[in-house]
Amino acid sequence: MFTREDFIDLPHLADFSNTADWLSRRVWSEGAGGNMSVRLDSVAQIEGGEAHALPLHVPHLAGTLLLLTGSGTRTRETAQHPERDVGLYQIGEDGRSYIWIAGNKKPTSELPAHCAIHNALAQHRPQHKAIMHTHPANLISLCHVPELASGPAVSDKILRLQSEARLHLPEGIGYVPHQIPGSLELGLASAELVKDHRLVLWHMHGCLATGSTLADAFDYMEVFEKCAGLYWTLRAAGIDPVGMTDEHIEKTLSAFGILDRFK
Ligand SMILES: [Zn+2]
Repeated sequence: MFTREDFIDLPHLADFSNTADWLSRRVWSEGAGGNMSVRLDSVAQIEGGEAHALPLHVPHLAGTLLLLTGSGTRTRETAQHPERDVGLYQIGEDGRSYIWIAGNKKPTSELPAHCAIHNALAQHRPQHKAIMHTHPANLISLCHVPELASGPAVSDKILRLQSEARLHLPEGIGYVPHQIPGSLELGLASAELVKDHRLVLWHMHGCLATGSTLADAFDYMEVFEKCAGLYWTLRAAGIDPVGMTDEHIEKTLSAFGILDRFK
């Protein structure tokens, strides 16, 4: 039977701890802002608890285990106390409910949103098991420029400012117009976009990253944030940057065999 010791020994808790530490160092997740979750392949036999209804159907998560940060947990503290701030949950075999297994018992209000996004990932990009949401100032600032407030526009302008950015993010950035923070609508809109985007910018709110691990998701966010930082540095110097030409971007992606993901 799965025990508290088994939970503490889960290697994924170190991924939460290390990523929380870096989110805090980058000042991306202020206060209790942001949240993270990871799908697990399997653990030992688990004893069932009280089932809670989900407000959506997630058939691709039936029986899946989810590690998820707790409501009101501070990223800077999660770095030191992952076993206190992260909870383990299991989605019911019907894909319409969940039970608490171990760790933090009060999941983030964005649990349904995380379930919606994981359901899409499990179906379309099963190797990507981690979701990280945070509030990087350089990225939120992009939403305040009206001509950049769409996925194609922000991708085209920002990802041509550094020659490796499109290698990491050839599909560009997804963009969700205003939604209520923590709402299922925000999760459903993001779920649609993560089918083919590793990052999704939430209008004037923050950014969502997906990856094989939380560290991997953090990498994608760092690439985008680096480009946004270049943009704001150049704008502050009075330069509206043009960036790489289409020809140079296509040559670079061709050299790495991923031009088809750019088109
Ligand atoms: Zn947020």
